[in-house]
Order: sequence, then C-alpha cells, then structure tokens
Amino acid sequence: MERKTVLLVEDNEDNRFIYTTILTRRGYRVVEARTGEEGVRLALAERPDLILMDVSLPVMDGLAATERLKADVATSQTPIIALTAHAMASDRARAAEAGCDGYLVKPIEPSRVLEEVERMVGPATPFDAAQNEQLRAG
Ligand code: MN
Repeated sequence: MERKTVLLVEDNEDNRFIYTTILTRRGYRVVEARTGEEGVRLALAERPDLILMDVSLPVMDGLAATERLKADVATSQTPIIALTAHAMASDRARAAEAGCDGYLVKPIEPSRVLEEVERMVGPATPFDAAQNEQLRAG
C-alpha cells in the first residue's frame, strides 16, 4: 500500500530518533537527512509528501535549503515545515520569506509534529483514512 513519505532534515540525533519513531509508528515512511545539502538531494530523489526542516543545520542551513527547493519546479509544491529554536516574529517572517509553509518552535512535543503532518498531508495511508472515517461515523 502506498504510504506517505516525510523527509526529516535534522542534524540532532535525538530529535531524528524521536520524530522518526512517532511518524513511523503512525504509518508514514520517513527518510532522514543530516545537512541542508543532503536534504535538498533527498527531496529531489525521493519526492516526499512533506518536509520537516530544521533551521539550524551544518553545510547549508534549513532556510537556504528551503529556498533551493521552493525554486525548483520538482519540489516547489512540497510543503515544508520549519523546526526551529527561534521564536521571535522576525524569525517566523524569515522562514515565511524562505518559503516555509509551517513553523514549529522547539522544543516540539512529538504529538504536535504528528498533528501538523496529518493536518497538512492527511493520514499515512488510504487504509488509515478509511479507518478514521469509520471512527468518525461511530
Ligand atoms: Mn539543528
């Protein structure tokens, strides 16, 4: 069955582990990158449904990587959620300028990450969607 893919670009190993674990448990396929450069490369190769992009990354930061991806027709429509420790309005504005579609401020509860991913791309698989529909119908 077709599973939705999330590309997680994050240099912090603990964060990678936590977010990958919860997303995988919910049924998403997760591809991991550790630098902005690797993130851009994998985004083009894997065509994920959504990208979780840490802002502070080695080699190429998350905003520069976002700008690159938004400028490429292959990935310009892919939603990108910035993950950042910076909560100021100016930081949010810079992320929006770079093309980020969402913004989560660290420390981020794993449940918040799931919520945001599901809100933007829907359930991990069509099966989950059917099951959710059934649950709602009672
Ligand atoms: Mn980082």
